[in-house]
Amino acid sequence: EVIQISDMAHQMGVKAARLIRTLWQQGMRNVTINSSIDVETAEYVAAEFGYTIENVSFQEDEILASYDDEGELRAPVVTIMGHVDHGKTTLLDYIRKAKVADGEAGGITQHIGAYRVDTNQGPVVFIDTPGHEAFTAMRSRGAAVTDIVVLIVAADDGVMPTTQEAIDHARKSDVPIIVAVNKIDKPEANVGRVEQMLMKEGLVGEDYGGETVISHISAKTGEGVDELLDLLGVQAEVLELVAPVKGPAAGTVIESRVDKGRGTVATVLVQAGELKKGDIVVANEFSGKVRNLLQPGVKNKRLKSATPSTPVEVLGLDGAPPAGMRFHVVESERDARQLVAHRREKRRRKESVLSGPSLLERIKSKKVPILKIVLKADVQGSAEALKHTLEDLSASKVRVEVIHAGVGGINETDVKLAMAAENPLIIGFNVKAVGKASKLAEHEKVPVETFSVIYEASDRVRERMIDLLEPEY
Ligand code: GDP
Repeated sequence: EVIQISDMAHQMGVKAARLIRTLWQQGMRNVTINSSIDVETAEYVAAEFGYTIENVSFQEDEILASYDDEGELRAPVVTIMGHVDHGKTTLLDYIRKAKVADGEAGGITQHIGAYRVDTNQGPVVFIDTPGHEAFTAMRSRGAAVTDIVVLIVAADDGVMPTTQEAIDHARKSDVPIIVAVNKIDKPEANVGRVEQMLMKEGLVGEDYGGETVISHISAKTGEGVDELLDLLGVQAEVLELVAPVKGPAAGTVIESRVDKGRGTVATVLVQAGELKKGDIVVANEFSGKVRNLLQPGVKNKRLKSATPSTPVEVLGLDGAPPAGMRFHVVESERDARQLVAHRREKRRRKESVLSGPSLLERIKSKKVPILKIVLKADVQGSAEALKHTLEDLSASKVRVEVIHAGVGGINETDVKLAMAAENPLIIGFNVKAVGKASKLAEHEKVPVETFSVIYEASDRVRERMIDLLEPEY
């Protein structure tokens, strides 16, 4: 795989000359606008300009399914946000206990990632993690899971900083807000005051001629909660939420854990297609055959399949993918392996570009010019001292290597040794060329220089190093 410099410059919108200069600085002095470079080098150069390069030979899209059916109506996915202590957890617990956990399980009090609730107006999915951390954590991984934010505001407290933050988050993500004014059972509750405060935030209730849906609830007693759920149930149609139901499943990991007995349990939300037992799933860098599908929050309730807007626990992955990661069903285990290998490689490259050393090191050892020096001196002590001084001049872009350091005049053997190197230099310290060495060196164009002061020798070596950096036309 190679990329042509001119193509690369065009893609990144920089002048080819700038790319070429960067490559020169890496010691690749022969590149021109028509040269091609390998992907690894290209990645390094791209990173210098703030770009990353996708592996050109492998397209994830070729493995991942696309859908051509227009889709069917699906349940909305809801995240509850609001200021601390305004009742997010209480509301989620109430709904989970009242609507999800079956009697036998004895009412699940632990959160379960996500669950689905049936309302009089159709099903609704709740992300069972309160607060905007969950929302933003998912968003930061590019996962757009939430269709509706339920903004909870305590009737005895009103709009608080986190309430405003939640409004901002939802607006930035273009997610509609439904307000739940909570704690209306409290004697201090002042719904009117809260609604005035909301108006200042641009959330104007229908009673005031606005468009914001505002419900009044008590998460503690359950008053108004069914009405809120019904309101949410209606939203699937209002928001025209549809998803393709046929074909291989794709969706988002809500959370995952490793269970002692069952291995990896990944709670995922199916967002397209149909997820079935036996499917090959890839999530991030993990994969596996679906051993079982379980309904979250209901003990041992196995599902045959899961369609869009269904949260489901997947057993069978070979590791726990982080929340917010996409998952996909692929056709074969071979596809899964390829996809995972490609992602690992991509991450590895990205890491090595970001942290520098390993990739840089590899480029250096391959491409950085090395000035190879044969060194002769009158006494051993001088030879040693000069060897160290010169080798210390080594820089990231040009290296200095003393390939031989000895005592005595520069002889034919020394010249032959130097001839073998790409960038040779023979240095005599208080010694001269003897016998036919001069002639041979001249004939073979091997530079020979003699000095009697160490710093002069190192100055000269520095000049040679700079020469090696300069482009050749
Ligand atoms: P979160 O921080 O938003 O998750 O708030 P919590 O759900 O932990 O609720 C904070 C406190 O308010 C708890 O002591 C709840 O019992 C209480 N609380 C929540 N909802 C209601 C309600 O509707 N009425 C009353 N009276 N108390 C509530």
